[in-house]
Amino acid sequence: MAADRPFDKTRGRHRPCSRARHPDQPADGRGPENLSGLGGSRPTSREKRAGQHTHISRLRSAETTSYITAQVEQDRLYSRLGLAEAFAALATKHPEVLELHRPTFGLAKSLVETGELPGPVFDACPGTKTEWAFDMTGRIYACTATVGKPGEALGTFYPEVKLDEAQVSEWQERDVLAISECRNCTVQLACGGGCASIAKNQTGRLHAPDCRPVKELLGLGLALYGTTSDAAPAIQRGNCLLR
Ligand code: SF4
Repeated sequence: MAADRPFDKTRGRHRPCSRARHPDQPADGRGPENLSGLGGSRPTSREKRAGQHTHISRLRSAETTSYITAQVEQDRLYSRLGLAEAFAALATKHPEVLELHRPTFGLAKSLVETGELPGPVFDACPGTKTEWAFDMTGRIYACTATVGKPGEALGTFYPEVKLDEAQVSEWQERDVLAISECRNCTVQLACGGGCASIAKNQTGRLHAPDCRPVKELLGLGLALYGTTSDAAPAIQRGNCLLR
């Protein structure tokens, strides 16, 4: 409140409160950098003079370190199924989160909400079809997942506009019919072959599968939506709208 802040006689108004803090911030005045375990000390008088600039630099440094750590320590990241399981557990406990986000859970959302299977997915990867990515050095990539990776640029937009048509074609031809492992897969039209970049990371080939846990996701989704949606009675009777 203004009454709590010192009055600046020269400006005729209360000074901004330099000690204003977020409710989650420790009462000792230290900032969120300490919450990441990467800060720890009060700003020096010199840092105080540098003001917000120093504070923002510290936050950016902490965030960057955190992202890099997560990239290196892959076990700190969710798997696709692990994330779905964690979300399902959260939504079971707090169904109100489904008002903000209703994952597809494979085929489950469509089955519960419409009684129909969703349309067939021949190709789950948008790279070079509905997605492209451009970096600040003038290179063109198939998607954001490949930006900056050596050998992944498909062309340039500066200083010269050009595309490697052979590489672009390889991306654009990738679907469940082009990937040999997917051709006889029973869930191919629910999966769509997954992410091309992940497939290439794991196998060295673009035309390789990135398998989605379709059956597990369907089970999770039916269990979740079967208890939280209007279709619950039908699903619980075993009439889960599958035709
Ligand atoms: S589950 Fe694997 S093999 Fe089946 S369609 Fe998806 S990527 Fe291809």
